[in-house]
Amino acid sequence: MNVAVIGGGGREHALARKLAQSDRIETVYAIPGNDGMRDVAEVVPEIGETDFEKIAALCTSKQVAWVVVGPEAPLSEGIADYLEGRGIKVFGPRKEEAKIESSKAFTKDIMEKYDIPTARYKAFTDYDAAYSYIESVGAPIVLKKDGLAAGKGVIVATDMDEALAGLDALMADSDAPIVIEEFLEGEEFSLMVLVNGDYTHSFEIIAQDHKRAFDNDEGPNTGGMGAYAPVRHIPESVRQEAVDQIVGPMARAMVSEGLDYFGVLYLGAIVTDKGVKTIEFNARFGDPEAQILLSLMEDDLVDVLEKVDRKEAFTLTFSPRYQVGVMLASAGYPGSYDKGHTIDFEAVREKSFVSGLKQENEGWVTAGGRVLLVTGEGETIESAIDSAYHNVDQVKFNEGEVFIRRDIGRHALK
Ligand code: ATP
Repeated sequence: MNVAVIGGGGREHALARKLAQSDRIETVYAIPGNDGMRDVAEVVPEIGETDFEKIAALCTSKQVAWVVVGPEAPLSEGIADYLEGRGIKVFGPRKEEAKIESSKAFTKDIMEKYDIPTARYKAFTDYDAAYSYIESVGAPIVLKKDGLAAGKGVIVATDMDEALAGLDALMADSDAPIVIEEFLEGEEFSLMVLVNGDYTHSFEIIAQDHKRAFDNDEGPNTGGMGAYAPVRHIPESVRQEAVDQIVGPMARAMVSEGLDYFGVLYLGAIVTDKGVKTIEFNARFGDPEAQILLSLMEDDLVDVLEKVDRKEAFTLTFSPRYQVGVMLASAGYPGSYDKGHTIDFEAVREKSFVSGLKQENEGWVTAGGRVLLVTGEGETIESAIDSAYHNVDQVKFNEGEVFIRRDIGRHALK
């Protein structure tokens, strides 16, 4: 069969690579894909990820059996509704269900109604009301823009000055409501869940992302600067608590609300001294968690999608090894950055996932904020970290043009 992957980043590179490994698949079409995906997919750069009409036409002419959607934008714009309406099977939620990610207020309301553990919150559109609320609650406090912001619309303010400056910045930006949340303290982890209505299959292992731009979790929030799995220092009982207290209740809550979710549901959770709580839900795989988790997954991904489609019970098999991924990002990211800098990663091509690079004159140049995830693996987390940084050191780039975090996996070493 043929399949299509929608999106052009590292997560989609991982999805395409994983699908291409299936004996059942002839061709993976990557729409729009990126140059790094050419080794595993037929890349279609002329069709954009929200160009639904052209996507549908290609899927029909190439007899695509499944469309797997990577990023949030096409989901929240209704790619699943559009393609399903034309008889094309899509792994990814429809527009209404994708609101679980695209509207924080919508999701917070469901969590409150069904008593699903999360930070206390209030949504505001009025500046003065938000200002008084922040003054009455005090810092630390978290401010979030409603809507999609690629991890960059969140301000974790440690003092009042930061909180009020954050309010000004978020409110100046657009008219979208802002959500003001109680600050939760604890260690975060990511759990991927395959959902089909009231059916859920939570991944047997959890992953950890590194959201902040710089070492020691300092600097602004980013889309993710590195990830690793499994996270063994967080006990299985905690993952199970998340499954029982958050994932199951959320799936049932969505059904009660008349939603019929189909696809991956990403739970961003935090282990507080009052139990596991929800930080956020996303309507798709995490990036860079997908690169790590799909590398460790030994099952055929098409078989998995079909089992979820049939609501069949199964167990996923993951390699017993550890996998660590370090993100190379353009200097300046998540703020403004230059493109077009040369990178040579041929020596570790098979261990890398391309996010924002393009081919130019036989070489590669940067074309985005996050550019390349370089992975390493090992029997222990220490050896996996060493292997990842050894592989990063094989990549050639100019100092000052690209940066990495040097402490991916740090929480596992404490
Ligand atoms: P993305 O979808 O890229 O993960 P987002 O824009 O949906 O990001 P959140 O995941 O809600 O944003 O928040 C980003 C990060 O900010 C979290 O991973 C967490 O580190 C921090 N954060 C968010 N909410 C809280 C909270 N209530 N308490 C403490 N930290 C928080």
